[in-house]
Amino acid sequence: MKFDVVTLFPGLFAGGLQESIQGRARRAGRVSVRLHDLRRWGVGRHNQVDDNPYGGGGGMILRPEPFFEAVDWVRERHPAKRERVVLLSPQGQRLTHDRAKQLASYERVILLCGRYEGVDERVREGLADEELSIGDMVLTGGELPAMVVIDAVSRFIPGVLGRKEAADEDSFAQGQLDSPYYTRPPVHRGRAVPEVLLSGDHRAISQWREEQAREATRIKRPDLLAGEGRHGGARAR
Ligand code: SAH
Repeated sequence: MKFDVVTLFPGLFAGGLQESIQGRARRAGRVSVRLHDLRRWGVGRHNQVDDNPYGGGGGMILRPEPFFEAVDWVRERHPAKRERVVLLSPQGQRLTHDRAKQLASYERVILLCGRYEGVDERVREGLADEELSIGDMVLTGGELPAMVVIDAVSRFIPGVLGRKEAADEDSFAQGQLDSPYYTRPPVHRGRAVPEVLLSGDHRAISQWREEQAREATRIKRPDLLAGEGRHGGARAR
C-alpha cells in the first residue's frame, strides 16, 4: 500500500512515521509513504503556494495549481491502478473503522494537506475523490490528520500488526468497544486483576471478555449499540 502525501511541511512527518508500527510496516515493505513538498509546484518565481481569498477575509488560502500539478506528477512517476485522492478537511466525512478499512483496499492513497484558512475549493471539486475529517475540531494543518489516516489504514494491511487477526478484535471492529485488559502485577495499589483472567479457563475468559466489551460499550459509547457511531454519526449505512 502506497501513501503519497502532498504537504507544505514534509518535515512534520519525520518522527511520526519512523516510530513503532509505522516504522515496522515501512521496513517490512508493506507500506510506503512518499512525501511531496507542495512548494515544489509553487507558482512563479517565488514558488507561491498561497494567496488572499477572493472577496476578502483574514487568512491565506492555498492555491489550486500546486495541488493539481503535484498529483499529476505523482501519477506520472508512480502509476497506480486503484487510487483514491483524499483531501484532509474538517468538513469531510469522519474517519471511522469502516472508512479506514475501505481505504486499505486501494493500491495508493494520495493525501492532500491543507493549511492556513484552507484550500481553494476547486481542489475539492476537481481533484479530490473525497474529503476526510479526523473529528469535529479544527487543526492548524492537514499533516497530523494525514498521519492519523496513515496509521489507522495501515493497521488493516496484512503483516503490519503483530498478529493477523488483531485489527478485527479491537474496538469498533464488531460494532462495539474492546474489553478491558490487565497485565502484571496481579494486585496493584489494592486493585486486583479479575480472578477469571487468572483461572486458565479459556471459555470463561472469552465469555467474560464478551460481557465486559458489551458493558463498556453500553456505558461509554451507547451510540455504537444503536448502530450509529460506526458510520460517522446518524448517517445510515
Ligand atoms: N477554514 C477551514 C479550516 C482550515 S484548517 C474550515 O473552517 O473548514 C487548515 C487545514 O487543516 C485544512 O485545510 C485541513 O487540511 C486541515 N484540518 C483542520 N482540521 C482538520 C480535521 N478535523 N480533519 C482533517 N483535516 C483538518
